[in-house]
Amino acid sequence: MEILVHICCAPCFTYPHRRLVEEGHTVTGLFFNPNIQPASEFRRRLQALEAYRAETGLDVIYPEGPSSSEEWSMQCRQCYDLRLREAARTASDLGFDGFTTSLLSSPWQRHALIKKSAGELARRFGVDFHYQDFRQGWQETVRISREMGLYRQKYCGCIRSLWESGYFRGEREAARKRLLEEFEGKGSRG
Ligand code: SF4
Repeated sequence: MEILVHICCAPCFTYPHRRLVEEGHTVTGLFFNPNIQPASEFRRRLQALEAYRAETGLDVIYPEGPSSSEEWSMQCRQCYDLRLREAARTASDLGFDGFTTSLLSSPWQRHALIKKSAGELARRFGVDFHYQDFRQGWQETVRISREMGLYRQKYCGCIRSLWESGYFRGEREAARKRLLEEFEGKGSRG
């Protein structure tokens, strides 16, 4: 199948890419993730994909449009719809047999919601959605991306997911410990 793969990030894409090629598909990538915040993080993930592309010779489509969203309250369903609509529309416009997404290799993504969103879009744009559970290759994505030195992000993309990842809590906890240490240090000196 001539397949268009929506790429959420280079590391998640590594395993699905190898798997689909082994299975005989011709793969083209599409990077469209306006959900990623802040803009510096968007650039970092884009650079990681550029490094992967330079090494593998993969064809990637970069649609014009917003590079990163200022919409903090975006929910996952809207977020999947936004990105997969671009994949379904591009696949249909360019005559691909179908489309899929590297989101399906992450154990933290909601497969049922992705399937629902992509299924509806596939019907709307008259193109197949290729569902494949790539989660079995999650460790493989970690191994390949480490081997290739690809940047691996710590959160899904939006500010809410950054908060939920515990990064801020970790930062806060570290700051609290530093303050306590300083305070105790002063106390002992005093
Ligand atoms: S958690 Fe991920 S999928 Fe859900 S809205 Fe945020 S960036 Fe999108």
